[in-house]
Amino acid sequence: MPALQKASISNPSNDREHWSACHDCDLLLPIHDITENQVARCPRCNAVLYRHKKNSINKTLAFSLSALLFYIPANMLPILTLNIYGNMGRNTMLNGVFRLWEQGFWWMALLVAICSILMPLFELILLLTISVAIKRQRYSAVLPFAIKLQHLTSSWAMLEVYLLGIIVAIVKMSDLGELVLGQALVCYLILLVFTLCALQSYDRHSVWLATEILRNKTRNNVNMKNKSWPISRL
Ligand SMILES: [Zn+2]
Repeated sequence: MPALQKASISNPSNDREHWSACHDCDLLLPIHDITENQVARCPRCNAVLYRHKKNSINKTLAFSLSALLFYIPANMLPILTLNIYGNMGRNTMLNGVFRLWEQGFWWMALLVAICSILMPLFELILLLTISVAIKRQRYSAVLPFAIKLQHLTSSWAMLEVYLLGIIVAIVKMSDLGELVLGQALVCYLILLVFTLCALQSYDRHSVWLATEILRNKTRNNVNMKNKSWPISRL
């Protein structure tokens, strides 16, 4: 495996460099066009500023689309079936929110609905929208807005926290009666894995770079094929 190298941080006149602030020491640095297996590091504290992700757009598109396919069964199918002395109770994700609301825990119902149902869906739709727009090389004012919105929503989507809650509930309820795990639990696990893969593949730096190129192309009516940084590289 090739060794990771430091990216050049000089020559501010280069039009393919982008400025980035170090997350650890706040030093403002220009990051040049780095290739695969290279990583840009801060010269002051050695923190990683940017790591090139290969085939980022295609992977984000594929993983977000796959995750969306499992979203509906994960939320609509029974996730747990509890049998207590012949009384069967099937529970879905949506049922859980309604039950919490009915029992007076409206604030918890809202929190679960926002963090575990609405925000993950919203984030996947945003990732898919951004990937498709860049893949099709279509610029609109919605694209930068969607990128900013994805950045804001990423901290609110907490599928893994909700999954941890389900596991705790399974352990605690297993003593009450016969507990049968539903198909939704499998769909939820797959949804979680695909969502994490989509987020891991997503490269915000490359997305902003592609957006800038598409915007310049739209403004100047220049053919993208003549550009020194082709979109196909992202
Ligand atoms: Zn630093």
